[in-house]
Amino acid sequence: MKIERPRGTRDFLPEDMWKRRFTENAIMEVLNSYNYEEILIPTFEHLELFEIKSGEEIKKHMYVFEDKGKRNLCLRPEATASVCRMFVENLRNRQLPIRLYYSCPMFRYDEPQKGRYREFWQIGVELIGSKSSESDAEVIALAIDILKKLGLKFKLEISHLGIIRGLLNDLGISKDNQSMIFSYIDKGDLENIKKIMKSDIFFKLIDIRRKRDALELAHSMLDGHENSINALKELQKILRLLDFSEIEYEVNLGIVRGLEYYTGMVFEISVPNLGAQNQICGGGRYDELIELLGGPKTPAVGFAFGFDRIIEAMEMQKIEILSKNPDLLIAPANDSVRDAAWKLTMKLRKNLVEKRIDIDLMNRKLEKILEYASRIGVKNVIIVGEKDLSKNKVALRNMKTGEQKLVEIDEIAKNID
Ligand code: AMP
Repeated sequence: MKIERPRGTRDFLPEDMWKRRFTENAIMEVLNSYNYEEILIPTFEHLELFEIKSGEEIKKHMYVFEDKGKRNLCLRPEATASVCRMFVENLRNRQLPIRLYYSCPMFRYDEPQKGRYREFWQIGVELIGSKSSESDAEVIALAIDILKKLGLKFKLEISHLGIIRGLLNDLGISKDNQSMIFSYIDKGDLENIKKIMKSDIFFKLIDIRRKRDALELAHSMLDGHENSINALKELQKILRLLDFSEIEYEVNLGIVRGLEYYTGMVFEISVPNLGAQNQICGGGRYDELIELLGGPKTPAVGFAFGFDRIIEAMEMQKIEILSKNPDLLIAPANDSVRDAAWKLTMKLRKNLVEKRIDIDLMNRKLEKILEYASRIGVKNVIIVGEKDLSKNKVALRNMKTGEQKLVEIDEIAKNID
């Protein structure tokens, strides 16, 4: 009986995992350098956790099930709600701010296509406890530093929800209608918004896509809308800090994010030409979620990378990563030296931990071992022969150049790169 994997899931082959692990390690190096600490949240949570504030889009796509104890559970569709729950349960007595990161799969019952899966990986951060513009700027700078380290070309767009929200409040739009308007903006469906309201300023505002001067333009349109202006000023402070780090961005007041818990600055990063699913990162400030989940009033800001899309973007932009081909293959020239070859392999594996070291396990003849080595792309082969061994030497063959030389066993490390 042949059983296929479920729709929207993937098998990751050794070459996929090499790329993913290499990339994840590079990302974690930057996260650690910013003093973020790794955490892991449960794969499933109580359904209510995500019903409180994750937003309609996510709610529609959750994997919900009842366990044997008749509890309503849900495979995590995102991490922020879980991290806030973890904060309330386990971390609320720690010194603030707390800088956290996670790397794990999320589950959404969405229509699968390129860049959109039912099981997909997110690497994200949450910076809990600070309301300062520096904390907004820090998470954005962190995301940008990670992408620069990976060598990716991308586009950063920033907004502040307070600008639009302030205007909608002043226009007397109800909270429910505001949520609806936000979800229409997120989907780019302006026609449906026009059925709810017809403010010219609103449509002009969400159409703004400019560099820093966007704020002056928005300011001139928002005369008298005090809350919107205050939000503009907050955004201005964040942009100023990004300017210090020479981070390029575009202000796009049409960015509202699908998740309902955001309260302030929001941002998205996309990779042009990646196709329909080109958004590789989304984040923002959520100052009310922790309190909504039963914790003390605690501001927070964070983001999540779509890790699968980062890998796809790296492939598309042809970013090379370290080769995973073995560095060394130990080949016994005949049966009489198999034990010696085994001992040498184990010694080299112990001493050269950063090298990938292989040994023939198929009892192949030397000629066949060399064929195998070139087929799998081994960089060097060590041929262990009886005569050489008696002089404490082995033959080292560079598979790229075909050059072969005798080297002292203790000098193998010096002779390979
Ligand atoms: P969100 O939690 O919706 O803000 O998503 C954060 C990031 O996760 C997005 O920018 C995407 O890169 C990625 N993402 C969201 N949904 C999926 C999915 N179904 N498949 C792959 N990546 C996704």
